[in-house]
Amino acid sequence: MPFDVIVVGSGFGGAITSCRLQQKGYRVLVLERGRRWGKRDFPRSPEDAWIWDPEAPEERNGWLELRTFPHMSVAMGAGVGGGSLIYANVSVEAPRQCFAKGWPPEITYEELKPHYDEVKRFMNVREVPDNQWTPRMRLMSEAAEAVGAGDRFRKLELAVTFDDSFTYDELPKGAAASKLTVNAQGAEQGTCVHLGNCDIGCEVLAKNTLDLNYLFAAERSGAVVRELHLVTNIEPLAAGGYRVDFDRLAGGERVPGSETAALVVIAAGSLGSTELLLRCRDVTRTLPGLSPRLGLGWSSNGDFLTPALYALRGVEPSRGPTIASAIDFYRDDPDATFWIQDGGLPNLAAAYLARKAADPTTGFEARMLIEALQRLVRDGDSLRGVMPWFAQGLDAADGRLTLKPRSASDPRLRLFLEWDVRKSAETIRAIVAMHERLSRRTGGLALVPPTWTLFKDLVTPHPLGGCNMGRDASTGVVDHAGRVFGYPGLYVADGAIVPEAVGVNPSRTIGALAERIAALIAARR
Ligand SMILES: Cc1cc2nc3c(=O)[nH]c(=O)nc-3n(C[C@H](O)[C@H](O)[C@H](O)COP(=O)(O)OP(=O)(O)OC[C@H]3O[C@@H](n4cnc5c(N)ncnc54)[C@H](O)[C@@H]3O)c2cc1C
Ligand code: SF4
Repeated sequence: MPFDVIVVGSGFGGAITSCRLQQKGYRVLVLERGRRWGKRDFPRSPEDAWIWDPEAPEERNGWLELRTFPHMSVAMGAGVGGGSLIYANVSVEAPRQCFAKGWPPEITYEELKPHYDEVKRFMNVREVPDNQWTPRMRLMSEAAEAVGAGDRFRKLELAVTFDDSFTYDELPKGAAASKLTVNAQGAEQGTCVHLGNCDIGCEVLAKNTLDLNYLFAAERSGAVVRELHLVTNIEPLAAGGYRVDFDRLAGGERVPGSETAALVVIAAGSLGSTELLLRCRDVTRTLPGLSPRLGLGWSSNGDFLTPALYALRGVEPSRGPTIASAIDFYRDDPDATFWIQDGGLPNLAAAYLARKAADPTTGFEARMLIEALQRLVRDGDSLRGVMPWFAQGLDAADGRLTLKPRSASDPRLRLFLEWDVRKSAETIRAIVAMHERLSRRTGGLALVPPTWTLFKDLVTPHPLGGCNMGRDASTGVVDHAGRVFGYPGLYVADGAIVPEAVGVNPSRTIGALAERIAALIAARR
């Protein structure tokens, strides 16, 4: 076998386990369904590759996958670096109270702490420098004061490379104000110039994405990362180890192939890992002994966004890192069930024009027109007075993922989420009430989405669970070390193993769990 370990997916779980295992001398292969994105490829124009389509990935294998189920939609990234490409860079520890129930006894905040610290160090995580507060951070701080929670305002830790000498006087220079740096792993990055495009790819590479740190280090140590490889099945081998089947997505076709290894680490994300294992258990039946808990205990992490209108205030949601601060209701309150953040939105029109302006093939007259349009977009930005209040909370984590035919006429089995909001509704209502209060007290008008008020529909970018950790196969799919019950050498190491809502942005917790799993695998060798 040319590889000791096959890692499925290259997000937080996949990048971190592949890096650590390769560094420990394992020969690692990473199979990632999405593309390798460069700073000139990020989607900007309407005709660009925005969408990952699970129905036809050989044709549409773009930036974002949006899965829609009754009452819940889930947004996910696709690409080498997984969710780090699309995420808002918030890298925070989970509050202690999230570990109070549902986790195996080995996993506590104290147990994860050294791994939290290691992810922070490796991903160069820090707060926005004090001379670079965004207009939304100022609004957040004022709003916290206005509701009597001024001491709960805090800047968030972000996986972003900042330049302490940058000031807002340099904003008109745009990307040109970014400085070239080399990070601790040896990858070239730029410094953040507050372009606000974090969720659609940072054109100056100021985001500390996994392809620039953990995966970069993994490849430098010899790991092989194959893009556009969609894993379809996993089967145990008689002699030990596993065969991993995949479709290579090439030229609009699916080209089947397979590789074998003694160890397989599944890290395809909450939905991806759960769907793959459900297919292995219930469709191909190559892993028939997987736990009956597979698919249970899924959480949306209590995410909610309320836009608010400010007629007299420039909130500028497209300026600066997408999220940068929080009102931390968890601190010193074990009964708190949510916290509040400042959301942000990329200015797609401005990003598109910036790409066109930077294109050397754009002619002189077109460039003049683009520059005029850029001024217009900047000055008359229709989003200027919009504050996207954001929040995460401790929901009931009681969703259930299964495979189901869409209809009698279409018998193909697809991933399906049964989501009943009833046990989580109190947390969401409390978030909405706080968003309304924060808006009211600062002169804004909260526009609670009718999708919630009328239909109780939610959207989450933070799916968690599906292959939950437990003590044994009757309580979970994997143990505290990511080992799949009943299948030695098979692991899950991503957001799918998180058994409860973490109530904050989850990537650092997923990263800490992955660091711990990799350390335990290496220690057992
Ligand atoms: C818009 C947005 C903003 C976000 N902002 C933040 C934030 O600021 N902070 C934060 O902590 N979290 C944020 N998140 C959430 C964060 O991205 C996820 O929690 C995190 O990426 C999950 O890590 P993971 O390892 O579980 O899975 P992922 O990072 O999703 O990685 C899974 C990988 O597996 C690949 N894959 C899936 N199926 C297969 C298959 N069958 N074969 C091969 N490869 C496969 C996927 O393409 C993907 O690359 C955000 C998410 C979104 C969508
Ligand atoms: S704000 Fe702009 S420059 Fe800074 S990290 Fe986000 S996209 Fe990059």
